[in-house]
Amino acid sequence: MYPDVQLFIDGQWRPGTGGKTIEVINPATEERIGTVAHATTADLDEALAAADRGFKVWRATSAFERYKLIRKAADILRSRADSIAEMMTQEQGKPLAEAKMEVMGAADTADWLAEEGRRTYGRVVPARAEGVYQLVIKEPVGPVAAFTPWNFPINQIVRKLCSALATGCSIIVKAPEETPASPAELIRAFNDAGIPKGVIGLVYGVPAEISEYLIPHPVIRKVTFTGSTPVGKMLAALAGQHMKRATMELGGHAPAFVFDDADVALASKTLAASKFRNAGQVCVSPTRFLVQEKVFDSFVDQFTEHAKAVKVGNGLESGVTMGPLANDRRIPAMEALINDARGKGAEVRTGGNRIGNKGYFFEPTVLTGATREMRIMNEEPFGPVAVMVPFRDFDEAIEEANRLPFGLASYAFTRSAKTAQALGDKTEAGMMTINHLGLALPEVPFGGIKDSGYGSEGGIEALESYLNTKFVSQAGL
Ligand code: NAD
Repeated sequence: MYPDVQLFIDGQWRPGTGGKTIEVINPATEERIGTVAHATTADLDEALAAADRGFKVWRATSAFERYKLIRKAADILRSRADSIAEMMTQEQGKPLAEAKMEVMGAADTADWLAEEGRRTYGRVVPARAEGVYQLVIKEPVGPVAAFTPWNFPINQIVRKLCSALATGCSIIVKAPEETPASPAELIRAFNDAGIPKGVIGLVYGVPAEISEYLIPHPVIRKVTFTGSTPVGKMLAALAGQHMKRATMELGGHAPAFVFDDADVALASKTLAASKFRNAGQVCVSPTRFLVQEKVFDSFVDQFTEHAKAVKVGNGLESGVTMGPLANDRRIPAMEALINDARGKGAEVRTGGNRIGNKGYFFEPTVLTGATREMRIMNEEPFGPVAVMVPFRDFDEAIEEANRLPFGLASYAFTRSAKTAQALGDKTEAGMMTINHLGLALPEVPFGGIKDSGYGSEGGIEALESYLNTKFVSQAGL
């Protein structure tokens, strides 16, 4: 059963005051499966007032108490993982196993951030004069406005939510209208765990209207957004205009280096699994496969075999390893990029087309013969397309990797310690993983540079961006 999703404001689940709702579509069947409430300005005003009151209560709650409540919410989430995962697959399309992993992973993230919130230490700086104490104190930044997308309906929220909660901030989440039910279940787990009312708000509606209202509002002290680079730049500008702290987790176009000395079988298997996870709708998805000439053919052949072996279908069916694209916009987006590449001489090794005409299914696609003039080599595809590009030597590969304005994730396979070290030094990216998939654990930094944004959503850095640093110097009388 898929629910009609409501707003959560001041500890109450309720419809929007205007009574308006938006339809939710299952991307595998194109059927209308439910509705989501639409917030009006009056609803946002209530959410803001509640967040203001909630912040006063929550910042006065001890870090130890906050930690206990967040961990309790994580346990509730685990106990409901099966039903939440089913809702997520219905609204987003990803295979049930991936949806369940996302819910369980969210519980782990909540645990880690809860623990780390107990260690938001300040420090004492030795003074120049006797009897003086110089104290560095960490304080919660204040009520947060968070905007999250539809590709990981829960994971994109939990990092923001728990960083805010663990540091003593209240938060209003503007969750994705296209995948609203699993986010609502995430928030329900925190409410059921006993987080005081007003500390968490959940709204849906017209994204631009909500961001334009919340970001400038004096109650909001921090903005955090995950989504596309163009929208991120707009929201960062608005945040800047109103002097609000901001974290921006934006698009990518990740290079994946495969050197002559790599374990090609391991590289092709690992990178294909990463490419087609969530149908490629992942900001860190590997996209430009930069493969050294000697192993180019064998890598492309093996990768293509893995692409062909992906079982595309309704994520609720067993054995399916890739669901549909999450919404109808992604189909023309994929077709336009692939047709542009074909028209400019690229060869489609496998895939390239929509599957059927019911549900937003698309074939896992591998392209060769790509040139820099092609859109796919410059724009984030956000779909199941891999582009294979041969290179001669290290410098040529690095030049291509760093050519784009993006700098989020990067991948590499090599047996050379020297090459691995040079890659770590030279690649312009916020993250690099070498010879395995090691990104996105709660305890490690997660974020980009250049047009991929700023700030981190993992590791101790995640909490830092929800804290103000205050300095107090005190002389004894
Ligand atoms: P989009 O750019 O319209 O929206 C992306 C996200 O931003 C959505 O969640 C949307 O609700 C939100 N958004 C859009 N305008 C907003 C505004 N003015 N204020 C607040 N939020 C706003 O595009 P889309 O069709 O939903 O997604 C396509 C592109 O978005 C992809 O190609 C990809 O580049 C990017 N995207 C990135 C991520 C990520 O994890 N970084 C996730 C989803 C989408």
